[in-house]
Amino acid sequence: MNTKTSFYQHNFEDLQDLLKNNAVNPASASLLYRHHYKEKKIEACDHHNLSKAAREFITTNFDFTLPEIELVHESTDQTVKLLVKLKDGQRVESVLIPFQSKYTICLSTQVGCAMKCSFCFTGTQGLKRHLSTDEIIGQFILAWNWLKENRPDDHQLKNIVYMGQGEPLHNFDAVKKASEIFLSQHGMSLGVQKITVSTAGYLPGLKRWNEEMPGVNLALSLHSVFEEKRNKLIPINQRYPLQEVMDYIDTIPLARKQYVIYEYLLIKDFNDTPEDAHATGAFLMGKMAIINLIPFNPFPGSEYQRPLDSSILEFQKIIGTYNLPALIRTTKGDDILAACGQLNTKV
Ligand code: SF4
Repeated sequence: MNTKTSFYQHNFEDLQDLLKNNAVNPASASLLYRHHYKEKKIEACDHHNLSKAAREFITTNFDFTLPEIELVHESTDQTVKLLVKLKDGQRVESVLIPFQSKYTICLSTQVGCAMKCSFCFTGTQGLKRHLSTDEIIGQFILAWNWLKENRPDDHQLKNIVYMGQGEPLHNFDAVKKASEIFLSQHGMSLGVQKITVSTAGYLPGLKRWNEEMPGVNLALSLHSVFEEKRNKLIPINQRYPLQEVMDYIDTIPLARKQYVIYEYLLIKDFNDTPEDAHATGAFLMGKMAIINLIPFNPFPGSEYQRPLDSSILEFQKIIGTYNLPALIRTTKGDDILAACGQLNTKV
């Protein structure tokens, strides 16, 4: 029986404690973190500074297996979608999004999703299971190594968004631990501002996140400020209504120049009218808000349609009259179904 646990499940403090409790010098944790997270090596660490006891402990107790990249789709706009196969054969997707010769990775946190948003391809699957910390970290390391190998001149992976399959705050513990590993100064050393967690408004998770992971960027899927429309788009709005979520967000302390991102999926003849735009502007006016306008990307069988370009521009213009920045997010990767709400795991 394999009693090894994944190395990628342990944050730095856990790893130090584990080594210490097994009579191994905890200083080995720094070497391991440097090897696997700073240098992102996949093969086992055989650093000469590791003691014999440390080597034996590591070999006997840690599994360094990563998920596998099963398929790679490269879009004409340089977006890359990786179909990642997990140990139990389930699949999730990670998406590499290029911006000014750097990449942001969009990580999945669950297989399927329990939130069942009506515009979302992933939501149609229902929740199959949560991802473990090592499966979240694994997506990053695989993507980093894929970029290094395939786009060597252009492989800086600097930002993480939890916006792939799943509601990240519904899988709180695993996502929190993965974030601690991304942030650790002994390894990848990403800043809190380089990580964004996106939620549909799952309030219990949001409260924990604010208390336990302060400073990490937050994105809220807004999509409508009208209760009936939001209920239809995001069914958990019935349980955690927008106003309640916003009242809580308003209490979260923000750093200087830190904004909350509000994602607004524009759907033709549903939430793209001037009335919707004015209501959104009035709702967010005066807040540290950036509004990302995302034209809906139709997927096979979806009941919604992409808005007209003229409605998108009009919506943006109206939001601007409320002194709010509204960015139209180009739907990178929509030729390979890699845009927001389109992730599914069909091979
Ligand atoms: S949009 Fe996000 S929260 Fe909603 S069903 Fe899809 S993956 Fe889940």
